[in-house]
Amino acid sequence: MTLGEKIVMNETGLHTPDFPIIPFIEGDGIGPEIWQASKKVFEAAVEKAYGDSRKVVWKEVLAGGKAFDLTGSWLPDETMDVIREHLVAIKGPLTTPIGGGIRSLNVALRQTLDLFVCLRPVRYFEGVPTPLKEPEKTDMVIFRENTEDCYAGIEFEAQSEEAKRIIEILQTQFGVDKIRFPETSAIGVKPVSIEGSERLIRSAIQYALENGRTSVTLVHKGNIMKFTEGGFKKWGYALAEREFGDKVFTWSQYDAVKAADGRAAADKAYEDAVAAGKLIIKDRIADIFLQEILMNPENYDVIATLNLNGDYISDALAAQVGGIGIAPGANINQNTGHAIFEATHGTAPEYAGLDELNPSSVLLSGAMLFDYIGWNEVSDLITRGIEKTIANKTVTRDFYYLMKDEAAQKVSCSGFAELVIE
Ligand code: NAD
Repeated sequence: MTLGEKIVMNETGLHTPDFPIIPFIEGDGIGPEIWQASKKVFEAAVEKAYGDSRKVVWKEVLAGGKAFDLTGSWLPDETMDVIREHLVAIKGPLTTPIGGGIRSLNVALRQTLDLFVCLRPVRYFEGVPTPLKEPEKTDMVIFRENTEDCYAGIEFEAQSEEAKRIIEILQTQFGVDKIRFPETSAIGVKPVSIEGSERLIRSAIQYALENGRTSVTLVHKGNIMKFTEGGFKKWGYALAEREFGDKVFTWSQYDAVKAADGRAAADKAYEDAVAAGKLIIKDRIADIFLQEILMNPENYDVIATLNLNGDYISDALAAQVGGIGIAPGANINQNTGHAIFEATHGTAPEYAGLDELNPSSVLLSGAMLFDYIGWNEVSDLITRGIEKTIANKTVTRDFYYLMKDEAAQKVSCSGFAELVIE
């Protein structure tokens, strides 16, 4: 019998019992070792914060290679049922099966539970080797749409019957004459909806308001994809003005003032809004945005973007502050309460079993989980432990070789976790 109770969601929000059952997926490759190291840190932090009065009851569920070996299924139904029932889970990286019906286990988990927000906080930890001169200026929280866009998986191979038929319909029924090589084109479909965009942007704005952030930037490629990515921007501004009223000031409001009363009046309206502590809602085209985050990262705070842009942006930003060894993430549906926390890197199979790589991404994903369930003291302890361990220059091999610092000391994955606990 498993002791512990379920986390539940009702009209007043998420409710975490003192002994919550939290399912975990160990993961493949380096998953088991970084999970074991991280679990020790989580348990020590909970004990330090709450003594015996609170404790997580971890419940293992299977997915990936371990699941396939033991059950013959990459993602057993039972795993989905347990996560659905317990709302909040944490997972290690999973091997993507080659061939077969599943494109990606991660995408399957996100889509089955409709985890529409992919949340990736990006901040600098003092001492982490990075390619930037002033990495501390990068402090952003990315809200990536997680269920639509090219990730819907609607694609047809070049020269397949499906691709040929779609091309023919486009040509004969929609007058499309711009497919350069119709005989050999593969076709992909990019669905971007009003509801899907709005719920993501709403979450980003709510987060920004609740956490005292200064701006939300809608990142899109609407100059080229006018109805999908352009729609995302247009619906985002409309939603901000409609639902958040005088708590926000948008660039579309700026443009309206400028058109009516001139630039000086628009600048004044903007300055007044900033002085009044309003949240600024702005937008950037994705290509310029990638320049901006390198050159002027201090101008960006919360980011709301579509699925594919979000994929690129997350990795680019992670690199700015030290790479995927220290990049946490979460997939969340605020409406149902479902959330899966995960490191953003893969299984790094060539390092599996060596106890060498960095557990920080899982540790920080855990910190996000504890924040999510309202155990902020635990999250603070984990984060401070990591800050101190890195500042002391005791790091895993990935940081050690980049630091090029004689004072740095290389420690194992489990050794790093022990130091965080200390
Ligand atoms: P990967 O992220 O596993 O590894 C790329 C490189 O990143 C590694 O060689 C290593 O140098 C570095 N790295 C990864 N994790 C690290 C850590 N914790 N500390 C320090 N350095 C680390 O990417 P890959 O090799 O392209 O993919 C391997 C497998 O993982 C594939 O099957 C892929 O589909 C899968 N994958 C899973 C996830 C996920 O489960 N979320 C994400 C990406 C890839």
